[in-house]
Amino acid sequence: MSDLEFFGHVIDGEEVPSVDGATFEVWNPWTQKVWATAAEGGPEDAARAVASSRRAFDEGPWPRMGRAERAAAIHRLADLMEERADDLAVLDTTNMAKPLAQAQHDVSRSIWNFRFFADHQRDHCGEVYPMDSGHHSYSEYGPAGVVAAISPWNFPLMMASWKIAPAIAWGNTCIIKPSEDTPASVTLLGRLAVQAGFPPGVLNVLNGHGAPAGSSLVADDRVDRVTFTGSSTTGKAVMASAASNLAPVSLELGGKGANIVFDDADLDNAVHWAVEASFRNSGQICLAGSRLFVASAVYDEFMDRFVAAAEALTIGDPFDPKTRFSSLASKRHFEKVSAYVDGIGLDGGKILTGGADDEGRWLMRPTVVTDLPLTAPAYCEEIFGPVCVVNRFESEEEVVRLANDTRYGLNAMLFTENLSRAHRVASRLRAGTVWVNCFFIRDLRTPFGGIGDSGVGREGGNFSREFFTEPKAIVMQIQR
Ligand code: NAD
Repeated sequence: MSDLEFFGHVIDGEEVPSVDGATFEVWNPWTQKVWATAAEGGPEDAARAVASSRRAFDEGPWPRMGRAERAAAIHRLADLMEERADDLAVLDTTNMAKPLAQAQHDVSRSIWNFRFFADHQRDHCGEVYPMDSGHHSYSEYGPAGVVAAISPWNFPLMMASWKIAPAIAWGNTCIIKPSEDTPASVTLLGRLAVQAGFPPGVLNVLNGHGAPAGSSLVADDRVDRVTFTGSSTTGKAVMASAASNLAPVSLELGGKGANIVFDDADLDNAVHWAVEASFRNSGQICLAGSRLFVASAVYDEFMDRFVAAAEALTIGDPFDPKTRFSSLASKRHFEKVSAYVDGIGLDGGKILTGGADDEGRWLMRPTVVTDLPLTAPAYCEEIFGPVCVVNRFESEEEVVRLANDTRYGLNAMLFTENLSRAHRVASRLRAGTVWVNCFFIRDLRTPFGGIGDSGVGREGGNFSREFFTEPKAIVMQIQR
């Protein structure tokens, strides 16, 4: 065990083990071996982390610092992340079998998240409203306090950075609890924050399982905001727990995105993005286009090309530069995805390509399914794996109805060269984000979040500002 890496908690400016010394194993899902251990946070560790962040907020310099100084500190962290970008990417790849090039892309986006919010809080810090009555009203966005952030394993660093960056940029202090499946890169981020000279407690990392580490954080009445990304089931539990303290929550939850290919689509482009939306990150993307609807007129041609492209993805070792697709993030997750795939045939569905790996790896090959009843679990529920269920449609009216017939509403994609149709359909889709002729492009100024079981609230730009601050109105008499 001594030759394994160890990921402790980062609390109050130092890396520490759990109070009771408990640890858990960290797996490499590609090699199917334990490669590290991490501190198993319990209620006492969570309480310590919250006490530290509370102190940093109530008494420390961070919330009182000038905006430029705070921005500079966050840019310093981003600089250190750039210096250690290779290590951050290697940790995510080792920890969850994400192909290295994709992990490198995630690290770049994570760095950008910090830089964006560092600058955003300087440039969008208030509004002035001159009033006809001879008064001036202006707004002030003061930090909310201590933020508990809980993140999933599919984009270990990037999902955490979406939460930490706006939280600390707006002057809050933050405790991040990464997923127990992927503690590595976020722990390194916590170490880098110490190295960047962040005051103790501004960014604490608490490792451990959902319960008790995450649940203790959320239930703590010294926490002022809870931001959570994960499954819809856990999100509901998190919201219920935070409600007892009246702590506002932001929930980014599951999805079952519709991807619509109209008969006038540029098929090269549509096939390319259908493959990305279904199989990138082995389909472990909340934004996956896992329900694909193809216009009857182009169905046969599209499907031939889509299946061929899915089969052409290079599967293998996530560290091999040629690899585009690798194993799922854990044995537990492989078993969950396999159970859905096993049910497809029983429910009358046809697997055109894909299915479980036959070499004993925790790998589900890119899987394309047709003929599945619209009531089947694999059609209705989020599988969170590389399984794309395809249906054909005849009319715009029909496909909008099909696309919206879900309890999720995170995102949708549509492919058409008809401008009016693009606008018309985008507007009718019940989803937090609609991509037209593309996928996975994000501008951090825009709202991001979901409808229904996909979440509560929006983050991004001023939407993050509203969540992570206490907006205040100040009214001043100007004329007597
Ligand atoms: P999960 O809900 O199992 O876990 C998410 C996090 O919550 C982990 O850190 C976990 O330890 C913690 N947790 C578990 N139980 C908890 C509790 N009772 N109290 C507090 N914290 C608890 O989800 P997952 O399997 O890690 O991630 C996959 C899910 O995340 C999918 O449903 C996916 O769609 C969703 N997701 C959503 C988005 C989005 O932006 N909407 C992005 C990525 C992933």
